[in-house]
Amino acid sequence: MAELTLRGIEKAYAGLAVLHQIDLNIHSREFVVFVGPSGCGKSTLLRCIAGLESISAGEVRIGGRDVTRLEPAERGVAMVFQSYALYPHMSVYDNIAFGLKMQKEPKAQIDAKVREAARILQLEPLLERKPKALSGGQRQRVAIGRAIVHQPQVFLFDEPLSNLDASLRVQMRIEIAKLHAALQATMVYVTHDQVEAMTLADKIVVLNKGRVEQVGAPLELYHHPCNRFVAGFIGSPQMVFLPVQVLAASAEGVQVSLPGGARLWVPVQAGAVAVGAALTLGLRPEHLAEQGGGDAQFSVTAQVVEHLGGETFTHAMTADGDPVMVKGDGLSRVAAGHSLNVGVVGARCHLFDAEGVALAHLRHYTEGQLPPLPVAGVG
Ligand code: ADP
Ligand code: MG
Repeated sequence: MAELTLRGIEKAYAGLAVLHQIDLNIHSREFVVFVGPSGCGKSTLLRCIAGLESISAGEVRIGGRDVTRLEPAERGVAMVFQSYALYPHMSVYDNIAFGLKMQKEPKAQIDAKVREAARILQLEPLLERKPKALSGGQRQRVAIGRAIVHQPQVFLFDEPLSNLDASLRVQMRIEIAKLHAALQATMVYVTHDQVEAMTLADKIVVLNKGRVEQVGAPLELYHHPCNRFVAGFIGSPQMVFLPVQVLAASAEGVQVSLPGGARLWVPVQAGAVAVGAALTLGLRPEHLAEQGGGDAQFSVTAQVVEHLGGETFTHAMTADGDPVMVKGDGLSRVAAGHSLNVGVVGARCHLFDAEGVALAHLRHYTEGQLPPLPVAGVG
């Protein structure tokens, strides 16, 4: 297994730039997920790594080797696509063996590789079947098997689960995580689904309009998004954004006024922030408490309440007309029309400047060191 390095990757189609100065270090055995909205350049970047697209500038290195000008087959990568692209007239066995046969590998060696891949992917009972007699998940496993037998240095996945229904997707997601653990392979995985990114990745690369917005471990991006784009993209339901005004700034952080006038200290580096400046406050729905409490509260009116059984999503609005989502547990008694005094904890909040850049938290939270959420009846 190998490390993968991208240096200054640029890609343009007919003069129109779609990737801008992409620099990335992917360690050997790392599971890296490229995530971002549709059209941001995820597939293009993956195809540049695979050699299926030429790059306008930059360098691709795999295992310390400059592969920038090598053909796809010479790069030591294998790619799995959203469309499984299996040969319908061939059995599962022959589909998996096909690439090796084309490379004229000895039959016994092919057989050993196909059977090992089938074992890993639990396809052994299905080897004689044709693709039409397989479920979507099984077909995708065959497509992965086709990649495995090439023993690539790097696996490349482009939205491999997008054609599957929701429950199968969750199941296959777990299969892919297990596969990564079993193969100990370097994997680069493209998805527009932030839940897939959060659950699979060692490291997430958030892309937007052909640029890297942030690179980091899933919980690092969740707790410390570097800007408003990442804050809004990572986390489901989405972070709530409220316009706020700065009341005070000190070494302790920045004090802002909540809707309705309550004051809240957010422990971030004030930097050049001045009193009176307009900022955006970011609040995660799961950090808002419908029962009040915390460091400060503000009033919202519930508009639509979704009871999902285990959790409750309350779509509400502030007196200023800004939308707020509050995530509560399954026992929530909130109903449309109710007025709520929502509690917030300053240390769980985010502040963004006029350009959308996050003010750095004074304390870097890792799991286990997070400030407690609001407690009912306090404050
Ligand atoms: P994603 O995979 O993130 O949805 P893509 O990498 O497919 O996005 O596309 C990135 C951008 O490049 C889009 O604006 C898309 O229209 C453009 N693009 C992709 N492939 C081509 C192509 N072959 N010719 C011209 N433009 C392309
Ligand atoms: Mg794509």
